[in-house]
Amino acid sequence: MSFVRYEQDRDVAVMTMDNPPVNCLCHEVRRGLADALDRADLDPAVRAVVLTGSAKAFSAGADIGELDSHLAFAEPDQNELVTSILERMSKPVVAALSGLALGGGLELALGCHYRVAAPGTRLGLPEVKLGFIPGGGGTQRLPRAVGLERALNMMLSGAHHRAEEFSATPLVQEIVEGDLVAGAIAFARRVADERPLSRLRDCRVDHPHAAPLLRYARSAVASNRSAPAAARSIVEAVEAAVNKPFDQGMQTEISLFMALSASTEAKALRHAFFAERNAARIDGLAADTPVREIRSAAVVGAGTMGSGIALCFADAGIPVKLLDQRQELLDKGMAAIRRTYEAAMKRGRLSEARSAELLALIQPTLSYQEIAGCDLVIEAAFEEFPIKEQIFRQLDRVMKQGAILASNTSTLNLNRIAACTGRPADVIGTHFFNPANVMPLLEVVRGGATSDELLASVINLGRRLRKTPVVAGVCDGFIGNRMIDAYLRQAMFLLDEGALPWQVDKALERFGMAMGPFRMCDIVGNDVMWAVRKRHYVEQPELICSRVADRLCEQGRFGQKSGRGWYRYLPGVREAQADQEVALLIGEHSAGIGLVRRKIADDEIVGRCIYALVNEGAAILEEGIAQRASDIDLVYLAGYGFPARRGGPMFHADSVGLGAIVRAMKRYALNPYGDARFWEPAPLLARLAAEGKKFTP
Ligand code: NAD
Repeated sequence: MSFVRYEQDRDVAVMTMDNPPVNCLCHEVRRGLADALDRADLDPAVRAVVLTGSAKAFSAGADIGELDSHLAFAEPDQNELVTSILERMSKPVVAALSGLALGGGLELALGCHYRVAAPGTRLGLPEVKLGFIPGGGGTQRLPRAVGLERALNMMLSGAHHRAEEFSATPLVQEIVEGDLVAGAIAFARRVADERPLSRLRDCRVDHPHAAPLLRYARSAVASNRSAPAAARSIVEAVEAAVNKPFDQGMQTEISLFMALSASTEAKALRHAFFAERNAARIDGLAADTPVREIRSAAVVGAGTMGSGIALCFADAGIPVKLLDQRQELLDKGMAAIRRTYEAAMKRGRLSEARSAELLALIQPTLSYQEIAGCDLVIEAAFEEFPIKEQIFRQLDRVMKQGAILASNTSTLNLNRIAACTGRPADVIGTHFFNPANVMPLLEVVRGGATSDELLASVINLGRRLRKTPVVAGVCDGFIGNRMIDAYLRQAMFLLDEGALPWQVDKALERFGMAMGPFRMCDIVGNDVMWAVRKRHYVEQPELICSRVADRLCEQGRFGQKSGRGWYRYLPGVREAQADQEVALLIGEHSAGIGLVRRKIADDEIVGRCIYALVNEGAAILEEGIAQRASDIDLVYLAGYGFPARRGGPMFHADSVGLGAIVRAMKRYALNPYGDARFWEPAPLLARLAAEGKKFTP
């Protein structure tokens, strides 16, 4: 198979990259390009060259899968291709861009003498999102093409931009309406005789205030706790583009790139990238499994989650009916929906006309008859089994045959819910996260009887809703909440033993969690967790738990919604305030259970909470609740604010070393207070640690 097609249109050679779906610059493509460029350069009948890709992508960049293999730098590597071959051509090369020109793809285009683009082509250098910096000359050529400030912003954000935004810069010489290749050939003929050949390496990075701008960028990156290490290196490489001759700047870029791409952080971000891709692959599900069409949807329960889920459907252009028990409850749900649109309009993110269109897609109703014909219904009522039971019996009676019956339950047994219907194969869990219209994660819960067709259809729907679907099996709390339960049990023990909520939160936020456990509980609602705990006390009486959170709830401290929880919330102030009343309550609780409080180091806080996640994750993996360790990581990255630079709890465990984790767990088990059984390593963790193996490949 040839990865680069070579054709000739009289005096113009046209080379087309052909590596679907997005023309990654794998080794074969690079070699094909090198051969094609040599051939065109040596052919006296060729006066100019057009280099193009497909409508979908000129090229989305390097083959990330190659990065960890020898092929990444096999000859010709990206820099050789651009610096030793493209830039040394004796004839002009015009890049004809369409679809995506990202990362190495854009760097390849930057090495060409000219660039023309189809309207709407997306350009960007997203390497920072994968933990490294552009390593194919992007940090040196982009500032020469679009100016210092724009180049810095593009590389630090990793964002994509439309080609039209650059039509006044040397990045894009022409936007071609109509046939891109024909336009590029015509352009190539016009410039065929221009000499010297225009090369970005020969330009200077001009900026009247380069030094203060770079100083500002450096301090902005340094003061941003969540900025990846790559951000610092981008600023350093761009500084070299300004202050050093081109080839020296390239050396700086390459050494920074090499150091970063081998770092744990970059490996973690690459792991996250592949986790997202792999999550869509379901073991045992045939690729040609048919999917049901979903043209209309219904949501039962117009509360926090129901109204958020309705927003997701409207955003995806799917008409949705929202059902609740009484008119005032429906009105409340619809008012929340309207408030979301109004806020988006206020911020200039939504026009009034678009808001009206979206609103028209959401129809409130009190009648099950009105939703009977919908292709899918999602139940988002109270988290109580008898209520779910009654709703699913009703849905079974009224919904048309072939309708998908889904529950948004966060902890209840989906198989029991499915058994309330005469069609358990059509029942599935769709666990959205709060706020449903914002959070990307969708846990798709596969019941014991859920059909393959249903599973494939809901995964498909998840992508249409622009969510990250991850499949989970049935157990209490599925992947995410089952693990968070173990994490919170440790967090509560820490309070009993001597820590305070703000110390625990700060330690975990320093580790990188978007939010500590107690701030999270205050947002979710302490009452919601209380209800789950009460169920656990009955169902698992042997479980040892701290009761400190129950004492808090008995005082009505339900969190943000009641103005008081683990913290105090002042009207109009977003920040959670540490509250001495809570410190007192915790102190009294410790005394009440006969504990002498001790000073607990941040290391112990982080270790106990994070290893609790890891150990439960190992059990989940072994039980087959999650298909693979990277699915667990994805759940935590997309739904629980786990730091991306650590790759998720399972990848993090691998980078700490499973043996070290097991040893730490043995130490925690010696704690006279607490639950020694909690720290028994899950069999999979113990086995892998003993064999010196890892969870992730
Ligand atoms: P909520 O209390 O805000 O809303 C529940 C809504 O369901 C209410 O409007 C109520 O009137 C309605 N309802 C109750 N019984 C009904 C019935 N028989 N028929 C029709 N409507 C009925 O609750 P929520 O926070 O939106 O949670 C809903 C579901 O989503 C629960 O299963 C919960 O576990 C799950 N969930 C919640 C969150 C969260 O953070 N709140 C996150 C993920 C999943």
